Amino acid sequence: MNSEELRGVLREIADRTVAFRASRADAPHQPQCSYAQARAAFDAPVPERGVALATLIDELAALTEPGLANMVGPRFFGWVIGATEPAGLAADWLTSAWAQNTGNAHATPTASACEELTGRWLLDLLDLPREASVGFVTGATIANFTCLAAARGEVLRRVGWDVEADGLFGAPPVHVVLGEEAHSTVFSALRYLGLGAKRIVSVPVDAQGMMKPGAFTKAIERLEGPIIAIAQAGHINSGGFDPFREIAEAARAKGAWMHVDGAFGLWARACPDRAHLGRGLELADSWGVDGHKWLQTPHDSAYAIVRDAQAHRRAMLIAASYLPEGKERHPADYVPELSRRGRGFATWAMIKSLGREGVAAMVSRHCAQARRMAERLGAERDIEIMNDVVLNQVAVRLGADMDGAKADGLTDRTIARIQRDGVCFVGGANWRGRQIVRISVISANTTDADIDRSAEAILGAWRAERDAHDQ
Ligand SMILES: *Cc1c(COP(=O)(O)O)cnc(C)c1O
Repeated sequence: MNSEELRGVLREIADRTVAFRASRADAPHQPQCSYAQARAAFDAPVPERGVALATLIDELAALTEPGLANMVGPRFFGWVIGATEPAGLAADWLTSAWAQNTGNAHATPTASACEELTGRWLLDLLDLPREASVGFVTGATIANFTCLAAARGEVLRRVGWDVEADGLFGAPPVHVVLGEEAHSTVFSALRYLGLGAKRIVSVPVDAQGMMKPGAFTKAIERLEGPIIAIAQAGHINSGGFDPFREIAEAARAKGAWMHVDGAFGLWARACPDRAHLGRGLELADSWGVDGHKWLQTPHDSAYAIVRDAQAHRRAMLIAASYLPEGKERHPADYVPELSRRGRGFATWAMIKSLGREGVAAMVSRHCAQARRMAERLGAERDIEIMNDVVLNQVAVRLGADMDGAKADGLTDRTIARIQRDGVCFVGGANWRGRQIVRISVISANTTDADIDRSAEAILGAWRAERDAHDQ
């Protein structure tokens, strides 16, 4: 393809992107087609002959755009999803154009150095030990996996077992201690690592889903041998934080490795008025955190942070003989992949675009907006806010004065109605035996007016379902 042709297509994509983004503020937040319709649209045999780029881009957009959720919209509160802000988007386009295979520092000194030095920015912003190493991975699931692989290797190495060489067969048992309400993906990581999703010591939690005071110490007291403890910064429903200082002290007394899953909650440390929530987690040995949630990078962006860089490297090193050794930091030595995109660029761009002050202001604003939402909804006589809104998550119980099954049914109907109405998007969850509406305020584009408009839409949907049921 010649340059003129490529320029034409990329210009068109730029125009499309701008039009798409500009339309998001008022677009419905729910996809406008079902999975079956989306599937039918793509259902075609393998094309026998290639088609021109401009043609296929038109076709791709036509097939796709009706089925896209408005995840970058200002009133999207489903799950915990950032908004892929322009700086990250632009850097990500260039990342694709530059096409650096970011495995090895000799092959691509720039992409490798960018990750190393952007990793230092992250340690500074999150106020974590500056000697820690940072691997750029796809998501917090893999960040947790990477950190726990380092943990597994190190706690076994301390008792004379080389898990990287000899595997887990015949190894001394490793105890894994974590809160009853750890994120589901932590259990996935334990499964991938041969530690078993069910072979765990589970610590009782309080009404916020956080480990009860004293409970971790009690749970770990009777354990002997290698131990990995997993704490949480930012519970998926409550946004709550585990008692890190207690966990760190009890873990240290037992020689345990302490990991923190802080997919979004770790960012509280970058915000002076929220930093108290994460106090004590700097005593841990490793941390998993996302870029594609609160930092608003494009997707496939998270960080596996390990205090002991050697333990990190031992777990992930690809000792292929064709890769030259040297003083450079090879990105592949800190993540589970070899060939991959240069993930540092988009993170660099988002930090550069927001600055320390911008990150702090954004986190602080989202937390204030979550409280605003909780106040608006909680003022309704039969709505109960189930969590202490310390961060950006709001767990809403509809029909607080009703029989449980009736309230659960109406909650599901209300969520469906909210999604159908399209003013905002909220998801549901089952928490403490109840169906709840879960609201995550985390989009860079959300204003206070969006909160008020969404609260009205949620209350309107609830009243309509409640009153229809009472007829
Ligand atoms: C989102 C989340 C994860 C998983 O992160 P991905 O980026 O989706 O892989 C893990 N833990 C918590 C607490 C989360 O919120």
